[in-house]
Amino acid sequence: MITEYAVMNEASPDPEVIGRAGRIIKEGGLVAFPTETVYGLGGDALNPESSRRIYAAKGRPSDNPLIVHVCRLEDIELIVSEIPPQAQKLAEAFWPGPLTMIFKKSDLVPKETTGGLDTVAVRFPSNRIAQALIDAAGGFIAAPSANRSGRPSPTVAKYCREDLDGRVEMIIDGGEVGIGLESTIIDLTEGSPIILRPGYIGRKMLEEVLGKVEVDATLITPDSGIAPKAPGMKYRHYAPRGELVILEGESDKVIEEINKAAAFNAEHGMKTGVLCTDETKDLYRADSVKSAGTRSDELSIARALFRILREFDDEQIDRIYAESFSGGNLGQAIMNRLMKAAGHRTVRPGDGEKLPL
Ligand code: AMP
Ligand code: MG
Repeated sequence: MITEYAVMNEASPDPEVIGRAGRIIKEGGLVAFPTETVYGLGGDALNPESSRRIYAAKGRPSDNPLIVHVCRLEDIELIVSEIPPQAQKLAEAFWPGPLTMIFKKSDLVPKETTGGLDTVAVRFPSNRIAQALIDAAGGFIAAPSANRSGRPSPTVAKYCREDLDGRVEMIIDGGEVGIGLESTIIDLTEGSPIILRPGYIGRKMLEEVLGKVEVDATLITPDSGIAPKAPGMKYRHYAPRGELVILEGESDKVIEEINKAAAFNAEHGMKTGVLCTDETKDLYRADSVKSAGTRSDELSIARALFRILREFDDEQIDRIYAESFSGGNLGQAIMNRLMKAAGHRTVRPGDGEKLPL
């Protein structure tokens, strides 16, 4: 298959291209497109064959359900069997935007789209290209992130192409995304609301609207042996090809330990990458030192994270060391992705722990 590549500006989506892309989806094809979180790989959410194609194009396990994207609030009534009052409140506060809500599904949504579940994940994105495409495609686009399964989610179209060229009918390049981490997922089907995946809409923001909100226990203690409620959260994810370790604790000890390991790696013919911030960038000596942004602007770090992990791959880095980013509103969301990318390998030099050499 030859993949068509179309470039457009979010401020003025090209109606002719969007019309063509919508028809591709209506006919069962796939289109990668920008959203405010990460790029999505879109197919017709109501067509079981489209969902099967999405799983195949991504190499994604078919028990990992897809998020259904809508472009009008009233369309939700068609795909869910019940709208709890809490959902109404969240929609008013955060939609269109980077929040996904889990509902009980209606019969219109095929089980192929929901990974066999009786519930459906729904999001109304704010990106105008995404909205125009959803409308042109008939109103319901199933879209996971537009990466091959296991790879970092794409924040620029170049990485959709790297992963999906020849596997999808079209890729729409709408520039770099604004947030860079996938949507927050909240489940409203089980009495008290529960966060299944942290994202830009943080717990505090949700609690301001709903009162008490729980967090899926597996997000807090990932080694607890309990299955996460969002099936996709159990998979290794976002992993760069190089070995990634996160360093926690006092900054000067972290820097010293990384520089020691980088020197060792260089002597042994291995390339080292460091993922850090503007505050510490000049203090590292390694083959590739990349700042994700400044600690005073968490969003800059969120937006850069997946791109930098991919860049280390482009530079064939063997060992990657990352500073830790906990704290703030986005800290939990950033660390959730980074910990998964690292397979939960962390080292605390302040407690005498050493990087494996
Ligand atoms: P992605 O589309 O790649 O951002 O992944 C979608 C995420 O949403 C995965 O972690 C899924 O497991 C989760 N998800 C989608 N639908 C449901 C659902 N009905 N119940 C729980 N989690 C869901
Ligand atoms: Mg994904």
